[in-house]
Amino acid sequence: MKPIFSHLSWKSFLVLPILIFQATTGMAQDKPKAKPIIDVHVHAMKVNPAFASDMCPWFLSSMPGSIPGQPGPSFISTDCAHPLKAAKSDEEFQQKLMETAERLNITFVASGDAEILHRWKKAAPDRVIPSIGISQGMSVQAFEDSLSNGFYQVMGEIAPQYQGMSPADPSLDEYFAVAEKLGIPVGIHMGTGGNGMANLSSPKYRASMGRPFLLEDVLAKHPNLKIWVMHAGYPMIDEMIALMGANAYVYVDLAGFIWSYPLEEIHMYLRRLVQAGFGKRILYGTDLMMWPELLETSIGVIENANYLSEDQKRDIFFNNAIRFFNWDPKKFE
Ligand SMILES: [Zn+2]
Repeated sequence: MKPIFSHLSWKSFLVLPILIFQATTGMAQDKPKAKPIIDVHVHAMKVNPAFASDMCPWFLSSMPGSIPGQPGPSFISTDCAHPLKAAKSDEEFQQKLMETAERLNITFVASGDAEILHRWKKAAPDRVIPSIGISQGMSVQAFEDSLSNGFYQVMGEIAPQYQGMSPADPSLDEYFAVAEKLGIPVGIHMGTGGNGMANLSSPKYRASMGRPFLLEDVLAKHPNLKIWVMHAGYPMIDEMIALMGANAYVYVDLAGFIWSYPLEEIHMYLRRLVQAGFGKRILYGTDLMMWPELLETSIGVIENANYLSEDQKRDIFFNNAIRFFNWDPKKFE
């Protein structure tokens, strides 16, 4: 697979932010902290060595597809000079993740495996903000109890479109009501599904169930619910902009698509959101799963967005999340 941006090595995106961080943080010996970054979209997963594949960022620059009866498209690509290395064990992933978070001053919202989440929280209490999804068969009462005990501060990732369901499906309603009552922000996956998701692993996946307009009824029913649209409804920019225009409390994150789709496409989408006036409602996120270097790769995409001012970048990396989650910025300095 030949990436469109073959003249730009991914490494330049990796190295540049490091240089910027070094330049802004001064001499190594006095080690002032880097400016804080909040990543609202990290997955706490048990590493399965059989699936821990290296990955080339922006691999969706080519989606050749396949034909029925032939091998399906591959989910990710390793066909580049320097793929990002997948962690091969839970210990390796945790150690590299925490080291990077400390060095780059990243605090992250993480959802997924409860055991991993507890381990991470114990290892770095100030860096990890646990988030809870709706696991299969979890009753509304059990969900409320989990949120009330104080460990979880966020609801997500909710991804009904992988089940072919709309976020407005009545089966989700009581869970949203709990989040609304407790003032818990909710992250809902809408949009991207990679290359052939319905053929690969999620036959129930429906692209149409990621349409931003499907949130309108949820928002009308739960006017005090704080929702952010994970993956920014990519590629449905017009509906996303219309929804955000009509609903002042809706934010978006940039996770997933900022390191998987072609760079030109990513910047077109991000630029359009900012140009339409929503620069204060974009949250930084990665969708990190198993590649620790992905944090720097993704930061580099924003750092290299020459159409954004330094203030706009700081909004995306930090200020917007502080406002959305209603956190105290001093706690992140
Ligand atoms: Zn997602």
